[in-house]
Amino acid sequence: MHTGSELLETWIPDGGFMIERRKLKTADGGSAVADCLVPKWSDDELTRDLPCARQPCLHRIFTECPPSPERIAFLSSRYGLLTVSIPRPPAPGHVVKADALPPEPVEIWCKEIQALRACVELWDSIASGQQSATERERLGHKIAEHLARTPFHLRISGQCFRYCPVTLSAALWQRLAAEVAGLIHPARCAAPNCSRWFLRGTAVRSDKRFCSNACKNRAFRQTKHHDSHATTAM
Ligand SMILES: [Zn+2]
Repeated sequence: MHTGSELLETWIPDGGFMIERRKLKTADGGSAVADCLVPKWSDDELTRDLPCARQPCLHRIFTECPPSPERIAFLSSRYGLLTVSIPRPPAPGHVVKADALPPEPVEIWCKEIQALRACVELWDSIASGQQSATERERLGHKIAEHLARTPFHLRISGQCFRYCPVTLSAALWQRLAAEVAGLIHPARCAAPNCSRWFLRGTAVRSDKRFCSNACKNRAFRQTKHHDSHATTAM
């Protein structure tokens, strides 16, 4: 089931982002200095990415990001900025330079991760049956609040249309909405030394526990290894 978030585009400098103090304009017309994500090299080229198509459980990965500048710089270099989009995509063959991206305050990331985490934790306790229907309604309101006033593109193709978010931030909230609505089922791989997030099938009884065949085989081998040791010990 596609909701549109998998079509969200971000633009990432080849050398990634780093954190630097920058002077920013405030809403009241003044200015303030803040830690911001900026391209490591301003003359870098930008590469287009489709982060939610590449990582369908991205909202879960962001939820687990600690508020450390290193992790935030790492996540942005891998998936793009949260609130910045390139208004007009370049014509094929044209290059966009990294200085086209305005600096993005790290504070936006900290707030966004915290808000997502609160909602994901609430959802997890609802899904495990520990909460009432009122809490479910409260979660729905919170997600709707975060998606209100966010810009979307309407893409019409064939016999369907999708609301494609313009920013990564909106896409992450849309992924969470899709999870709460039961359209996607993120799960964590149960294999030793993996714990990667992956999408289980949409069937209600889907019990897929591993992200890949390699992980499935590794877990199976380890169980066999444990069993044979237990038998020897007897
Ligand atoms: Zn795995």
